Amino acid sequence: MNEHKLHDGSLYWPKTMSFFPTYPSLRERAMTQVAIIGGGMTGAICAATLAEAGIPAVLVEEKRVASASTAANTGLIQFSSDIMMSGLADRIGERDAVAFYAHSRKAVNDLGLLAAAVPQDGGYRVRSSLYCASTDEDAPKLRREYEMLRRHGYAADWGFPAGVGSDFMARYPAAFVTHGDAEINPVRTAHAFIAQAARSGVRVYEHTGVANVRRRGDWFALDCEGGEILARTVVRATGYLPDIEGAAGCEPILRRTFALATKPNSVPAEWNRDHMMWETARPYFYFRTTPDGRIVAGGLDEDSPDPVTGEPELQARTAKLLAELGKLFPGSRFEAEHAWCGSFGESPDDLPFIGEHPETPGLFHALGYGGNGTVYAMLAANMLVARLRGQEHPLAGLLRPREVNRAASGKPAVRKAYGV
Ligand SMILES: Cc1cc2nc3c(=O)[nH]c(=O)nc-3n(C[C@H](O)[C@H](O)[C@H](O)COP(=O)(O)OP(=O)(O)OC[C@H]3O[C@@H](n4cnc5c(N)ncnc54)[C@H](O)[C@@H]3O)c2cc1C
Repeated sequence: MNEHKLHDGSLYWPKTMSFFPTYPSLRERAMTQVAIIGGGMTGAICAATLAEAGIPAVLVEEKRVASASTAANTGLIQFSSDIMMSGLADRIGERDAVAFYAHSRKAVNDLGLLAAAVPQDGGYRVRSSLYCASTDEDAPKLRREYEMLRRHGYAADWGFPAGVGSDFMARYPAAFVTHGDAEINPVRTAHAFIAQAARSGVRVYEHTGVANVRRRGDWFALDCEGGEILARTVVRATGYLPDIEGAAGCEPILRRTFALATKPNSVPAEWNRDHMMWETARPYFYFRTTPDGRIVAGGLDEDSPDPVTGEPELQARTAKLLAELGKLFPGSRFEAEHAWCGSFGESPDDLPFIGEHPETPGLFHALGYGGNGTVYAMLAANMLVARLRGQEHPLAGLLRPREVNRAASGKPAVRKAYGV
């Protein structure tokens, strides 16, 4: 069992569940077409998508479903990545950058369709995003992004939305609003998807860790606590954890990040609740609201792979996040009812690792690192279904598991060498 902790503090989303569905442990030898390792948001989306496509699958989770990074996720669903379309175009060319953004936007919509098809409400609500320039120097960069998005057909409005206070505008020199993003409750959504997949015939096992994945003829054999799974295709949806023997590379650069949820009914009257907010600084400060009027805010990423565990350390970061909110809404007083710290993984080139590893055909990676993990999970599920149907997805070449030159990315290598 993997004992590494991915979060600490008082998580908000699990408190919104009155009942957690449970699933048995594996006690047999199971055969299937697709074995999904990991019962977080990525495994959940893949399981629900495979069920919808009528493809037989088994999902195995070594702890409880939706209890790792998915429980710490703040639930912003945005087609824009941590890297702007314009920045990505500079790096990989405009055609590929535009294709990546187009498929991310499609994934936001597909997630909405998947959410609408399950009986439980996972809180998917369409939202607009206010993207702010953090400094005067960032304002031209933001303008360039706005113009490129418009040129490629994205609905975007330059400036601040009506109602935003003058303190907000004094803090940020420029901003624009994009439309067609969403917010979710990640824990309810992941549970809803897994429950739906289970109803449609996907076999789900909790407390079933996969220790090892080996080739056996045309099959993969997965050694699990309590049994064995034989599958034609294996999906590695294990998030940021060191996971299974026999899985090649694609390790994230791990950081820690902080988040809080205020008390209910604390959204200032001047804020339009249909909007989420983020900025150009890296790391960025961001916030969204919840249906019961909380603000969920986050940021302050630090170059350390482990969550803080001491209460004073967490309180200090929470006070900083509250101070950021206070600067934007000086007329309001905010109190954190929940505050937490979570590990957070980035790929060195800001793109997810999705697809079969060239050295291990059939082992499909669904590792959606970065601030957009949920959108990348939906993208991974779409690419997985395409691959199982023998189709070449347009992003297959760009996102396949690859060697990335970490030193060239300028990002610090803070990955700790955990044992498996
Ligand atoms: C504070 C914070 C805020 C965030 N905000 C956002 C946001 O607003 N929007 C967004 O899109 N993303 C956000 N993220 C990122 C998001 O949480 C992740 O991208 C997403 O949850 C990853 O889901 P996952 O299923 O890939 O990983 P996880 O949720 O970590 O699930 C992986 C699962 O695999 C299981 N597993 C691992 N190894 C094995 C094994 N050998 N056998 C069986 N099971 C195994 C683990 O137990 C775990 O349950 C945030 C992250 C943090 C920490």
